[in-house]
Amino acid sequence: MRDDNCIFCKIVNGDIPSKMLYEDGEFKVILDLGPATKGHALILPKNHYRNLYELPDDMASKVMLLAKKMAFQMTDKLECDGFNLVQNNGEAAGQTVFHFHLHLIPRYNGDGQTLGWKELELTADELEEIKKIITE
Ligand code: 5GP
Ligand code: ZN
Repeated sequence: MRDDNCIFCKIVNGDIPSKMLYEDGEFKVILDLGPATKGHALILPKNHYRNLYELPDDMASKVMLLAKKMAFQMTDKLECDGFNLVQNNGEAAGQTVFHFHLHLIPRYNGDGQTLGWKELELTADELEEIKKIITE
């Protein structure tokens, strides 16, 4: 499964070079070209899935296991102080490359990066209403 116009398919296929950290039959892990911190990497399934909604269940399980393995290796080697997993789906969520990927972001004390959001102020009734929308 490949999309000829997809930059990550081209990377997986070797048509565009990348700094690869890991490869198996189903995944490549590469360094991000525009890293947030030293070691910022991306897990790419070799098959083209646009986002989490298209990712099959077995691949979703495998990607988290691989993220854990990479987090341990990278934390050990880079001596980072923390670690973020980030995964964007859809333009509204900041996705810019529409081939599923999981960001592996080593964090260092005082690295100056922020991955945050502005907190909404919701009443208990509003929270209850949202809970109902999602669960009923
Ligand atoms: P998104 O915003 O879709 O979650 O993340 C896309 C990521 O892909 C960005 O962090 C960006 O720096 C990275 N990226 C975009 N093009 C390339 C590329 O050609 N090579 C590599 N290694 N990373 C890329
Ligand atoms: Zn692709």
